[in-house]
Amino acid sequence: MDCLGCRIVNRLEPHVHVVYENDHVVCVLDIAPFNEGHTLILTKKHFRELDEMDQKSLAAIMNASVTISKMLKRIYKPDGITVCQNGGIFNDLTHYHMHVIPRFQGDGFRWSEPVMEHKAETRLAETRNKFLEEMRRIREVWEDPNLS
Ligand SMILES: [Zn+2]
Repeated sequence: MDCLGCRIVNRLEPHVHVVYENDHVVCVLDIAPFNEGHTLILTKKHFRELDEMDQKSLAAIMNASVTISKMLKRIYKPDGITVCQNGGIFNDLTHYHMHVIPRFQGDGFRWSEPVMEHKAETRLAETRNKFLEEMRRIREVWEDPNLS
């Protein structure tokens, strides 16, 4: 089994601490937590990207994020919860996973400033038009019964 995420799902890696599981997802503690309770939600089926997933897995991830958020709030009383995911070359498990992180004021977690100058903030209307044009082009995606 080459995929690190699949190995975690199947408990083939050391230090796998499952905090929640159902038919579609496994939720484990991050081995390098940003704060205590930092949890990863992994799909049991191998998917690498969010946009490759089936509806049941997608719904299960969102539902699990609610369950984990509620548990984190009860256990840690955080100031907030940050939910995030990294795709493509930024996905270090080569398997879809969502981070659910309890946050505290002053914990240092930050949305970093871009180091590449792009001035995208000056082209918001053009950006919106790109989306609208592309959605018209790929209309069949929205008519896919698997997506409705
Ligand atoms: Zn996998």
